[in-house]
Amino acid sequence: MQEYVLALGANLGDREYYIGQAIEAIRTSCGPILRQSRLLETEAMGAADRPFLNGALVIQSPLTPAALLQELLQIEKNLGRTRETRWGNRTIDLDIILWKDERGDFPSVKTPTLTIPHPELHKRLFVLEPAVEVAADWRHEEKQRTLAELLREKQKSG
Ligand code: ADP
Ligand code: MG
Repeated sequence: MQEYVLALGANLGDREYYIGQAIEAIRTSCGPILRQSRLLETEAMGAADRPFLNGALVIQSPLTPAALLQELLQIEKNLGRTRETRWGNRTIDLDIILWKDERGDFPSVKTPTLTIPHPELHKRLFVLEPAVEVAADWRHEEKQRTLAELLREKQKSG
């Protein structure tokens, strides 16, 4: 069965609560959680002005990438996420980071609404750090690097 790495972020209200609720909803509507990272405190960026909690999951799911994105957007909506500004404050942000298909390959996806691997993945410590906790050896084929290698390079370059 195929697996996904998901990134979670929250910076409004009771952040642990929203992340916990999101994980429960993912379990129910997307599939079982195989691994869960610790939560990391991260400073605000973009249009956001409050610190984030960030984490990552590996889930098993029968859903296609497009169907999984629809479920995640619905969960964000149910948890009170609004989209006023891009990269602004949010109760919950759920992103698809990487996809491992049934054969153990890491296919890329490029549609107007979905890009996998997530386009900002290699630039963001707050995505790479939790993702490496749960999926260090998963591969970014375009960059010919594992997540662990991308993290090491990002840590070196700052
Ligand atoms: P961001 O996560 O960059 O802060 P949003 O959460 O508001 O921004 O997402 C905006 C749109 O990004 C989503 O509606 C979705 O269509 C698109 N998107 C593209 N690739 C991905 C991905 N890998 N995971 C989640 N959303 C994605
Ligand atoms: Mg998002």
